[in-house]
Amino acid sequence: MTTPKKHIAKLFSNTPPKGEQLQRFTAFIKRKYGEDTELCWIEDTAIENGFRLEVGTNVYDWTEKGLLAQFDGHLDNIKYKDGMSIVPLIRNSVEGWTPKAFAEETGEVLSVGDGIATVSGLHNAAYGEILLFDCGIRGMVQELKSDSIGCILFGDSELVTQGSTVKRTGKTAGMPVGESFIGRVIDALGTPIDGKGEIKPSDYRPIENPAPGIIDRQSVNQPMETGILTIDSMFPIGKGQRELIIGDRQTGKTAIAVDTILNQKGKSVICIYVAIGQKTSSVSQLVDNLTERGAMDYTIVVNASAGDPASLQYIAPYAGCALGEYFMEKGRDVLIVYDDLSKHAVAYRALSLLLERSPGREAYPGDVFYLHSRLLERAAKLSNKLGGGSMTALPIVETQAGDVSAYIPTNIISITDGQIFLESSLFFAGQRPAVNVGLSVSRVGSAAQTKALKSAVGTLRLDLSQYREMEVFTQFSSDLDENTQNKLTYGKGLMYLLRQSRYEPLSQFEQTVLLICALGHILQDIPFEEISTFKKGLLQFIKKENPQLSALVKTDKAVSPELKQEILNLAAKYKAGRL
Ligand code: ATP
Ligand code: MG
Repeated sequence: MTTPKKHIAKLFSNTPPKGEQLQRFTAFIKRKYGEDTELCWIEDTAIENGFRLEVGTNVYDWTEKGLLAQFDGHLDNIKYKDGMSIVPLIRNSVEGWTPKAFAEETGEVLSVGDGIATVSGLHNAAYGEILLFDCGIRGMVQELKSDSIGCILFGDSELVTQGSTVKRTGKTAGMPVGESFIGRVIDALGTPIDGKGEIKPSDYRPIENPAPGIIDRQSVNQPMETGILTIDSMFPIGKGQRELIIGDRQTGKTAIAVDTILNQKGKSVICIYVAIGQKTSSVSQLVDNLTERGAMDYTIVVNASAGDPASLQYIAPYAGCALGEYFMEKGRDVLIVYDDLSKHAVAYRALSLLLERSPGREAYPGDVFYLHSRLLERAAKLSNKLGGGSMTALPIVETQAGDVSAYIPTNIISITDGQIFLESSLFFAGQRPAVNVGLSVSRVGSAAQTKALKSAVGTLRLDLSQYREMEVFTQFSSDLDENTQNKLTYGKGLMYLLRQSRYEPLSQFEQTVLLICALGHILQDIPFEEISTFKKGLLQFIKKENPQLSALVKTDKAVSPELKQEILNLAAKYKAGRL
């Protein structure tokens, strides 16, 4: 802070201070700002009673109004606990109150526009601090320069005018959190936007929080079941993992995330869906969908839509994450979906360019990697000492024409523990979910895959990649030998087996049965178009024929050869009866 040699202290009031008052003010400013501070009195008829003292950017509000506001703040801090009698509590806190002489740092808006305000005077403001503009709008400090501050605005920037005053709050951006948020749709500041009334928060958390350290974590050891056969079998996700869903537009990225949320029904997982830069209509459709299927009972939707200021789109995922952390620290399992981080990066790029930061690769600012790493690092499986809660993150990234080597996709691929790569060509060929088996991977989830499923998966991935290779080689050959032909039909059958409609999650038992049958070549001579109905019929038949089977296939144990044989026998019986 640069301090001018000589301070001028301006004292505002309705009537000039009298003898003793003047002495007290002079003593006060000399003590605080040095001997050479000069006091000058300025008449201000707007002040009814009391004084306002301004020294540089410091303001002491001793007007009646200011003291009342201070007293109000004091009353807000009274902590009432059950069993206390209210009258003595109020009496004590009123008697114990003395007005404090604290300086409020104020600044002035130099310029405003495009959701950004440049402010002068707040020399001690910190990065990420919340500022309060005199029109009531809040902003967050994003750029600290030697003589001014760049601040993003959380509201209509037209209300902020040049020359208006700004106050520091001393607080970093925070978010109200609590159980009562479950089932609600909120904006990036935690305000409900579903018209269902106010939400009573039970706590307040900073939206930026350091990620848990290595000692606070334990390795991923429980599966986060998506109910999607392709994913649970080959790219299993563990609780606490970060798995990227990546693909071009309209390839079913959101569908995978939503199906995973729907599959958490009855599994006591809290789901948070953060929509960034999407159309409000598609978000409300998604909420309707979740409500209809009973998933809003355990889900929170945070929406910063395309129409919201870029500042809100920028903080939305951190806000969602703060909510998730609240539940994780209570020992609960949380699933959080960021849909999508490419739009998040674009919003941040817009803000950075407006803040006149130097653009780097693809015009993104230099810290765009940190933007996402500090968010995704917060997903964790906490140690048992800390309650054993977890937060699984499913970030979504949209690619342009399948280009995974662009800046944002490569960044996020390197931050996450694996990716599910969706391909438009597969999607349009009817292979949905359009997962590219060769390019997808889950780096830690296999440690969390249930033993039953692991024992059933066998060589699925290998068989599929063999099929893909063979398919390319034999594309133009007319006469194939029987062995090759068989392998091709088997592989194609597997691809059809992996097709799964939306809203049709499969349980671990169902997945295990299907995999055992498919790898046991049961699907071999079923026409491809019938595989989908065959699957459903087969599962129904097996459940009816042997209702105990689902209890015998224990998730924590590999499926025994006898049990596998039993499943294959039942499948053969079903097939024979069907043909
Ligand atoms: P965007 O890029 O617009 O966000 P997206 O990649 O999130 O798109 P979705 O919105 O999930 O894609 O899906 C696109 C369309 O494909 C939707 O109409 C959805 O119903 C359909 N779809 C997604 N998955 C499946 C599936 N497994 N079976 C059938 N249809 C599906
Ligand atoms: Mg989508």
